[in-house]
Amino acid sequence: MIASSDSLSLADRRPYWNDTVGPQTECPPLRRDVSCDIAIVGGGFTGLWTALEASRRQPDARILLVDAGRCGNAASGRNGGFCAPSISHGVGNALKRWPAEAEDLIRLGRANLDAFEADLAEFGMDVEFERKGKLTVAEKPWQVEGLRRQAENYRRFGIDCSLLTEGALQKRFSSPVYLAGLFEPNYALLNPAKTVAELRRVALSKMIDIYENTAVTEMRANPRGIELITLSGLIRTRKVVLATNAAPPLLRRLRYATIPIFDYTIVTRPLDPAEIASIGWSERHGVADCGNRFHYVRKTADNRILWGGYDAIYHFGSRRDEAFLRESDSFTRLAANFVRALPSLANVPITHAWGGIIDTSARTTFFAGTAQADRVAYAMGFTGQGVSASRFAALTMLDLLEGRDTERTRMAMLRRRPFPFPPEPFRWLGVRLAQHGLAQEDETGHRSAFNKALDALGVGFDS
Ligand SMILES: Cc1cc2nc3c(=O)[nH]c(=O)nc-3n(C[C@H](O)[C@H](O)[C@H](O)COP(=O)(O)OP(=O)(O)OC[C@H]3O[C@@H](n4cnc5c(N)ncnc54)[C@H](O)[C@@H]3O)c2cc1C
Repeated sequence: MIASSDSLSLADRRPYWNDTVGPQTECPPLRRDVSCDIAIVGGGFTGLWTALEASRRQPDARILLVDAGRCGNAASGRNGGFCAPSISHGVGNALKRWPAEAEDLIRLGRANLDAFEADLAEFGMDVEFERKGKLTVAEKPWQVEGLRRQAENYRRFGIDCSLLTEGALQKRFSSPVYLAGLFEPNYALLNPAKTVAELRRVALSKMIDIYENTAVTEMRANPRGIELITLSGLIRTRKVVLATNAAPPLLRRLRYATIPIFDYTIVTRPLDPAEIASIGWSERHGVADCGNRFHYVRKTADNRILWGGYDAIYHFGSRRDEAFLRESDSFTRLAANFVRALPSLANVPITHAWGGIIDTSARTTFFAGTAQADRVAYAMGFTGQGVSASRFAALTMLDLLEGRDTERTRMAMLRRRPFPFPPEPFRWLGVRLAQHGLAQEDETGHRSAFNKALDALGVGFDS
């Protein structure tokens, strides 16, 4: 038998999700100058949802999407697939940051998940969407108190949930580590690579031009429209949607709005029925623990365990090296934490281990806006909760470009940009201090003075 941690060195460093989709025909790179009505930069969830919604709203428009790599190569193909009924990074975050509009944010988040599911059905997309709930588990007594407060908040907004302890908890997720859990039935999981593949398939079927392996290096405005510069051709367009997430932004004003945070995931080989029985996890809901450094845990369609999160790594100078996606000490920590929480699986090999970059904003939700006299729209800053919110962001950007006054465009959450991150070396130092405080708080239950000061400024740090 090989211990889980020993199998790490052999684990495939590409996302497990890639293995679940058949070979995808590459879309060609741009090789000439082209013109269109709407150009979308970025072929992750945000860009692809924008393409589908734009074609629904304006069936005759010439829509083009361009990605620097393959669609879904970045966060959209590397995430945990937790599809939240929230656009505000949860109920607690909405209440903390936008108490006056929390009720609307919560309602819009839940409606977005309903509409997400309806769109999957309308477009005939098979993405292994399962709306089977989420269990948030607590290890420390003060975290159990936190779950109780969360349950009160949920009930205040009519959100179904149940607090589980002892036998009831062990029946959903049996671990020697956790004391209590809060189960919310209205939460979904999906397969991220299948979601990208299906969004891309539908976009192509609607005659949307997709160019892959084509990076936009510059954006220029003139009275006739916007020009997007690439190394192999020029894109002339009336409107632009920027859906570039954690990549260096094309708009200078957004340079300080987010920082790239590396987040890591490991996946085991498929569990057999006895192994599943040993952890009491016969249902299909997701699991997350509730420390500041939290894990997200789920089963895949073939009953592997995906175990991700915990570390959130920032590299000085906002470095985004490709190598950081494949190699990290975080894999070893994840494997150790996995075995600690689920010791009966200590000998289950890990087959895949990979990283991804999260676009972290200081208030942990996306924001959107326009530039160049409302001819360019952007949305970014999803901070680890963009699977469902990306669809909402897409609709919002199109509202903004069309000059429509909607419930989406009126929200304070969207209108106000997040607190900017400082330049280096203060950025690195600030992240280090915040993370040190969050780790201490996970051990002691006490918030550091530095993090209390950030709270007072409305600045948060999460992944
Ligand atoms: C490891 C990990 C786990 C996560 N888990 C979850 C989860 O379980 N649930 C959840 O809700 N969220 C999760 N997230 C966050 C979620 O994946 C993202 O918020 C979401 O995928 C963002 O989609 P996007 O389309 O905006 O960005 P991306 O998927 O990053 O796409 C941006 C695209 O823009 C392209 N691009 C950038 N610059 C240019 C340019 N100049 N020219 C051309 N193309 C360009 C890139 O190549 C890329 O394909 C996770 C993220 C990571 C990294």
